Amino acid sequence: MSSLPTDMNSGMPTVRGRLRENVRLDKITWFQVGGPADFVFKPEDEDDLSAFLKNIPTGLPVYALGVGSNILVRDGGIRGAVIRLGRHFTKMTVDGEMITVGAGALDGNVARFAADASLEGAEFLSGIPGSIGGALRMNAGAYGADMSDIFVSAVAYDRQGERHTLSLDDMGFSYRHTDIPKDWIFTQATLRLAAGDSQEILGRMADISRNREESQPIRSRTGGSTFANPAGKKAWELIDSIGGRGLIIGDAMVSDKHCNFLINTGAATAADLEAVGEEVRRRVFETHDILLRWEIVRLGDVTASVKGKSK
Ligand SMILES: Cc1cc2nc3c(=O)[nH]c(=O)nc-3n(C[C@H](O)[C@H](O)[C@H](O)COP(=O)(O)OP(=O)(O)OC[C@H]3O[C@@H](n4cnc5c(N)ncnc54)[C@H](O)[C@@H]3O)c2cc1C
Repeated sequence: MSSLPTDMNSGMPTVRGRLRENVRLDKITWFQVGGPADFVFKPEDEDDLSAFLKNIPTGLPVYALGVGSNILVRDGGIRGAVIRLGRHFTKMTVDGEMITVGAGALDGNVARFAADASLEGAEFLSGIPGSIGGALRMNAGAYGADMSDIFVSAVAYDRQGERHTLSLDDMGFSYRHTDIPKDWIFTQATLRLAAGDSQEILGRMADISRNREESQPIRSRTGGSTFANPAGKKAWELIDSIGGRGLIIGDAMVSDKHCNFLINTGAATAADLEAVGEEVRRRVFETHDILLRWEIVRLGDVTASVKGKSK
């Protein structure tokens, strides 16, 4: 253990980045629901992240949050520390056909960076509204490609603050999943692309953008695909078949436009959104004997603890 001074009030280490207590998360996630986190930490750089992880109280849970496009924070909020990567973690460099990008970089910016460098293979990222950290964790993908197709290596910090360089084998990628422990924080990724024509790449990205606009509720308070597609099936078809399209509980609704998306139509709670999702799962199971797997990551407590009052 290093001997960083600690803040006597919170028992948390002194940091160079920004550490806030009792922070509302509904302001920073796509669904705009959920209670506060005990702590939110934005490290200044990798050393700051490592020192923080080494010096926080043993047993304090740690969670990574990207831009919250695949996450449902429950109404009681999150007990523990949420780590968000800021500007230091958005750097992008190119070396031949490889790019190295910070885990805080937005997928869309990475796709554009690759296109500007006349590198193809990252176009699928252009339509995914998350960060590279979230894309690594979720093995994000679209249009027949996913992160595992372009992945070379990643850097991550474990809960004890140790740095790891991870290979493709280490990642254990499968459909919308990696085997890396849930409390490890990715800080960067190296991706292998292929030489291409910049104008053609940009053209394909424009097609993706048009297609998304037509088929997904991308301007709503949503969390992307709610359920993973079961083997050989499309989740949206199963949901449609049981009359799930347009289903409403409180202000939570199954999208009319794409019925594998949930929407907060106004003042939904996380409980409403989870309830409408569970109702869909129940009906699909009853009719098709298939239990849909939540793709959206649900985090936190269902109800507020005594400490869970937001500022
Ligand atoms: C309109 C819309 C369309 C979408 N379309 C697609 C699509 O086509 N394909 C697809 O795959 N997804 C899609 N998504 C879902 C989402 O954008 C992706 O899963 C994205 O990769 C999540 O990134 P994020 O930064 O928002 O992660 P978050 O939602 O913040 O977090 C998701 C998970 O990643 C983890 N995480 C985030 N950052 C890190 C990090 N630095 N280190 C470790 N773990 C981290 C979190 O702990 C959490 O478990 C869509 C979402 C929306 C709202």
